[in-house]
Amino acid sequence: MLAFPLKYIYITQTFKKNVHNGVDMRGQNRGEEVPIYAPEDGTVIGVKNNYQTQDSSGNSYGNYIKIQHDNGLITLMAHLKYNSINVKIGDKVKFGEQIAIMGTTGHSTGVHLHYEVFVNNVKQDPLLYTYIYPNQQIDTNSAKYVKYTTKVSPAEKDEKINQIKANISSLSIRKEPSETSERVGLLEKNKYYNFYEEKKGETYDWYNIGQNLWVANQGESVTVYRRVDEDKVDQEETNYKFKYIVEETNNYMIKLNKGETLYIK
Ligand SMILES: [Zn+2]
Repeated sequence: MLAFPLKYIYITQTFKKNVHNGVDMRGQNRGEEVPIYAPEDGTVIGVKNNYQTQDSSGNSYGNYIKIQHDNGLITLMAHLKYNSINVKIGDKVKFGEQIAIMGTTGHSTGVHLHYEVFVNNVKQDPLLYTYIYPNQQIDTNSAKYVKYTTKVSPAEKDEKINQIKANISSLSIRKEPSETSERVGLLEKNKYYNFYEEKKGETYDWYNIGQNLWVANQGESVTVYRRVDEDKVDQEETNYKFKYIVEETNNYMIKLNKGETLYIK
């Protein structure tokens, strides 16, 4: 999924199909020209950077950036400040990288960002695909527009607790362990999360990371770290550590049960 392209989220106009095909946002203070960030990893596929004026009519985006993201979505950010765009067509951008500054070029009446999301080349409501990340803050009055606001705080890596690490930046958190269940948030890439329960679904393994919060392992999307408890032998585990240390050259015989592995160091 995508992050909002701003640190502080203040929504001034929402999506209305064929009337306003994007979401408008301004800075925390009216007129503030704030940095614009890439909502996700991707490749720049469109740039206009030399538009100097604000027009009161027409449909001009003014200066804009269009990005093809690795997750298949396309985003467009418009009315950017003249000459503030620091990427060009073909450039790879990284999630969270600053790419421009908010402005009021094109069909705009004040400093703001017009933000569009294309799904299969059709403009859809960006708020259905965009999340608030933990390093972002939403204005109190804008919170009602944003659907997915679940933030699960990452944990420290801890061998005594079952954990998963998110390997992708678009991993959804859902209410139930099912891919049709409501999406309520997302995990941060490369961060650890405690999990408390596992469920095998038809397609994915699911991990419970909190009350009504489930994450799917879609192949390589998470790494699973199971609790290490050397004093307790868990019969479910196929491997566990023996604490035998061979100090003399005598003969030892250790009987292994089926599925057990002996590690000697
Ligand atoms: Zn707009």
